[in-house]
Amino acid sequence: MDYDIVIGMEIHAELATKSKIFCSCSTEFGAEENTHACPVCLGLPGVLPVINEKVVEYAARAGLALNCEIANFSKMDRKNYFYPDLPKAYQTSQFDLPICTGGTVEIDVDGETKPIGITRIHIEEDAGKLLHESADGTLVDTNRCGVPLIEIVTEPDITSAEEAKIFAEKIRNTLEYTGVSDCKMEEGSIRFDVNLSVKPKGSDTLGTRTEMKNLNSFRALERAIQYEARRQITELKKGHPIIQETRKWDDTKGVSSSLRSKEEAHDYRYFPEPDLVPIVLTDEQIQKFRDELPELPEQKRARYIKEYNLPEYDAGVLTSSKDTARFFEETVALIDKPKAVSNWLMVEIPPHLKEAEITINELPFEPKDLAELIAMIEDGTISGKIAKKVLTEMFKGEKAPKAIVEEKGWAQMSDASELEGIIEKIVEENPKSVADIASGNEKAYGFLTGQVMKATKGQANPKLANEIIRKKVKEKIG
Ligand code: ADP
Ligand code: MG
Ligand code: ZN
Repeated sequence: MDYDIVIGMEIHAELATKSKIFCSCSTEFGAEENTHACPVCLGLPGVLPVINEKVVEYAARAGLALNCEIANFSKMDRKNYFYPDLPKAYQTSQFDLPICTGGTVEIDVDGETKPIGITRIHIEEDAGKLLHESADGTLVDTNRCGVPLIEIVTEPDITSAEEAKIFAEKIRNTLEYTGVSDCKMEEGSIRFDVNLSVKPKGSDTLGTRTEMKNLNSFRALERAIQYEARRQITELKKGHPIIQETRKWDDTKGVSSSLRSKEEAHDYRYFPEPDLVPIVLTDEQIQKFRDELPELPEQKRARYIKEYNLPEYDAGVLTSSKDTARFFEETVALIDKPKAVSNWLMVEIPPHLKEAEITINELPFEPKDLAELIAMIEDGTISGKIAKKVLTEMFKGEKAPKAIVEEKGWAQMSDASELEGIIEKIVEENPKSVADIASGNEKAYGFLTGQVMKATKGQANPKLANEIIRKKVKEKIG
């Protein structure tokens, strides 16, 4: 029997506010343990939380970017559970009246557009972190307690690992563009949970699902889904039922294992948070957020195709990160060669970024430097090949491309008289090639060009060199 895969996702994104959700503690990542925590973060008796209005604003903006309805009235609830890194023993979250509902996100799969439903987006606080690596046993870092989160919950509309990955990338991209989260996966700013079930092909009834939490890379997400789908199908084929549970994905071993049985909503004894007033947004406020939405990835991509005449592929890659798009636009504003700029950003620069382990924001040079480099190729000062060497130098330090070319003496030899001397000698030394050309074998030109490039360490202006070679050979043949 064939099976369909059914996936619904829950995505947690930390909001990019400076302070926490209910107090003025900093949300900064990487601070010394337990230095960003106050009685409010820890939920000590007698404290009173006050909601950070930026949190409400960011959640609403995220909802608008994902085509949700924004509620005029929503409220916070307590979700009771004990966990060592949640000293309050409850998480302040939203239960039955979340701030955003009913959105959709369109993803492109194999050239077709597919809508994925967004059930809801709610506001909640993050928990702290357990540190297991200490010799003293497990320690708790409470800095993350009270960092604002949104949780985005999807309909079970995703049907493959590939779709899940495309969807997750799109969500990350959109949140990043909207500026509501920095979406740094390596810092846990965005985390993906996968709910997955399988069912006989074409059946309308959903199977029993399992949940895998905190998949923290797109690769882990894809692999975890492939593994879990295969596991469930194998179990069903053996006649074993699927147990509704939370499973842990081990990315090193490439397997998932059972963590705990799934809790139900009633286990949490949700109740309205008595210390916080409801969240009220007027239509005017919501409209203002809507008007202020920036250009989103999809719109940008369409504009790149139209305005810069870029292939769809290029437009997709360049807009896949807000920072790459910014670098592209700033460079193109200085040199009107969109396809050349695109090639440098898509092909030449990424391997250097990877090697240096930096992001495009941390480049040791600016758009004006990339523009200068491309301008030097355009005006024939350097060849494309030399330009790649210049780029390597640009990654090393503060020098601008022009200064590098000058210092290294890498400018192309465009001085005809100097080239003539070199070429004359090469033609003289290769009578066989000349004879080949005389008997109609044009390929021998290639050999001569190669010799010229070798003699000039690749710096001969190829167009000029070619002209001179032809001239000198003709003179020889007579
Ligand atoms: P919970 O309250 O346990 O988190 P929800 O009903 O809110 O459960 O669903 C959580 C996620 O699981 C949603 O993304 C939803 O689309 C998905 N989901 C629900 N049922 C299934 C199923 N049978 N198979 C796959 N995904 C499912
Ligand atoms: Mg849930
Ligand atoms: Zn605090």
